[in-house]
Amino acid sequence: MEQSNLILVIDMLKDFLEPGHPLFCGPDARKIIPCVLRLLAGHGGDPVFYICDSHAPDDPEFQMFPPHSVAGTPGADLIGELKAYPGVIIPKTTLSAFYLTDLEERLKDVRPGLVTVVGVCTDICVLYAVADLRVRGYKVVVPASCVASFDPKGHEWALQHMEKVLGATIKRERD
Ligand SMILES: [Zn+2]
Repeated sequence: MEQSNLILVIDMLKDFLEPGHPLFCGPDARKIIPCVLRLLAGHGGDPVFYICDSHAPDDPEFQMFPPHSVAGTPGADLIGELKAYPGVIIPKTTLSAFYLTDLEERLKDVRPGLVTVVGVCTDICVLYAVADLRVRGYKVVVPASCVASFDPKGHEWALQHMEKVLGATIKRERD
């Protein structure tokens, strides 16, 4: 069976990407939207998994972060721009894409030859997803124009860490 390329989209939800929402990641995060849409438009039918924060109203995470992406609220929805690109929605309740989710099983079904990881935040959920994929032996590509953080230093640090320590390929196509 031919191995497919999987696109993993992390937390591209209204509460992270739309101004005025509780965890809005800022203008850098808005800039990745057209890049991610281009990637999805050119993916040629490869599977797309959307990893989506989906919290209970009293989630312990809200002791550290303002309440966000409560399941069933508009802030937990994917941004409207992504509606044109159907994929598997995988809800998560922590910073991990694997813990208490079915991502592990779904990856075993798809057996991707390559996983492209995009979304927010580069230095938090994107980083942990890449780490968890790499320790499982998956090949990972992170297009730098398709990830962002509210913290530009954290963004740069995480790109380097993913490349030098985790062995992901970072694609930089700024010019
Ligand atoms: Zn969260």
